[in-house]
Amino acid sequence: MLIVMKFGGTSVKSAERIAQAAALAVNSARAGHQVVVVTSAMSGVTDKLIGAAKNAVNGQYHKTVSDEIYEPHRLALHELTPNDATRRREALESLRQKIERLDTLCKGLTMLRELTPRTLDAISGMGEMLCAPILAGAIAEHGIASRSIEATELIVTDDEFGQAEPLPAQTRQLTREKLLPLLAAGEIPVVTGFIGATEDGVQTTLGRGGSDYTASILGAALDADEVWIWTDVNGVMTANPNDVPEARTMREISYSEASELAYYGAKVLHYKTILPAFKQNIPVLILNSFEPSDPGTRVTVTGRPSSRGVKAVTSIRNVSLIAISGKGMQGIPGIAAKAFDAVAAERANVLMISQASSENNLCFVVNSSEAVRVTKALRSALELDLLQGHIEDITIDDSIAIVAAVGDRMQGAPGIAGKVFGALGSVGVNVIAISQGSSERNISLIVGEKEAAEAVRAIHRAFELNKPSQ
Ligand code: ADP
Ligand code: ASP
Ligand code: MG
Repeated sequence: MLIVMKFGGTSVKSAERIAQAAALAVNSARAGHQVVVVTSAMSGVTDKLIGAAKNAVNGQYHKTVSDEIYEPHRLALHELTPNDATRRREALESLRQKIERLDTLCKGLTMLRELTPRTLDAISGMGEMLCAPILAGAIAEHGIASRSIEATELIVTDDEFGQAEPLPAQTRQLTREKLLPLLAAGEIPVVTGFIGATEDGVQTTLGRGGSDYTASILGAALDADEVWIWTDVNGVMTANPNDVPEARTMREISYSEASELAYYGAKVLHYKTILPAFKQNIPVLILNSFEPSDPGTRVTVTGRPSSRGVKAVTSIRNVSLIAISGKGMQGIPGIAAKAFDAVAAERANVLMISQASSENNLCFVVNSSEAVRVTKALRSALELDLLQGHIEDITIDDSIAIVAAVGDRMQGAPGIAGKVFGALGSVGVNVIAISQGSSERNISLIVGEKEAAEAVRAIHRAFELNKPSQ
């Protein structure tokens, strides 16, 4: 089989974890598989890089920041490549160059006082580049050839910095050209997750948590047999285990369930991961690098339908509810169209939409980081309606969360919404707005942010998701 396996931040956060990741890749290769590894940055490094850039643009940057990032990488490299001095020296030199570049970019920011999405991508994507040579070195110590490859050489993207989209044809061609000969020679290439480059070679990133997406993009480009996502939990669970301690791993879910869960906040998978795999019917496995013998979750075409309808519950925090309201909105055509055109022009992602049947209120949810920008754009696009009084107000509420109940079998199953509301009522959680996608695989609700965890637990309990389903 050809397997693309991705290791998340916690799976490469220290020399010990990188050694384990290397052993897992090597085991698969020794079992006769062709293996492409995708690595994230060491846990916490991407946050540190972004923090460094944001402080630098405010005039605060000191070299200790880059030293702090450099040191754990240097230590891990020393520990994991004891037998190959040449390789160690070269890798160390490449680490130093990357750190110097970080210093130069951040010093530049302290002078320019402007941080463009393009520069932020150049900085935030460095963590994967620092980690990949170490993991490749650790694999090579097992006697299997391995080299690190920067995904800027493989994944061609548009120039939407911060959430770039791959251009499939170019990406497929480059990836096959570069990786297939290595695989044929029995090598294990270690590719940096999270990053790509525009057609002009400018580095981009695929969005936070995007290394999962890298794995499925490469899996599709290589016509891989399977994509494995190694993380720190035993697969996709019925809820975030931090919210619901009794959450259980689902052994098999469908592509649509996985993508709906990821979209509505199950951080274990980046929400775009599923599409490239789904298009080519490549199974995606989510596995625990801390407990590799656990079978994890398998994402397949049919999943394993649950008789309960609801299979899992998720929540998204750090979102804002934008409400456009006014009694005069009733019967005035085109307000929704104008509003969403304005939102689209801002390239903001709308997570949920709800309109009361009275038409007095149209509300939708966006990421909090985009809310002020979107509201400004709305005020300008709807200026006339505001002046004429059709719209009385456009407001932002930052204190909300989305809670979603997901499952393929919800389709056409009566009584599910009633049960969800009953569960929330019984714990006194107020529902601010609701929405059900036309796919009927999902009921999403807006609740107060402070009540989100309680809401998730109540729905989890009501559908007895802690117990295995038939
Ligand atoms: P990685 O660093 O491996 O990419 P992430 O932190 O991005 O890992 O994702 C794994 C985390 O996702 C888990 O540790 C867990 O806290 C969180 N999570 C949220 N929802 C779920 C869910 N439904 N099932 C499993 N994990 C979840
Ligand atoms: N390192 C990146 C992040 O922290 C990508 C990833 O881990 O998937 O967002
Ligand atoms: Mg992740």
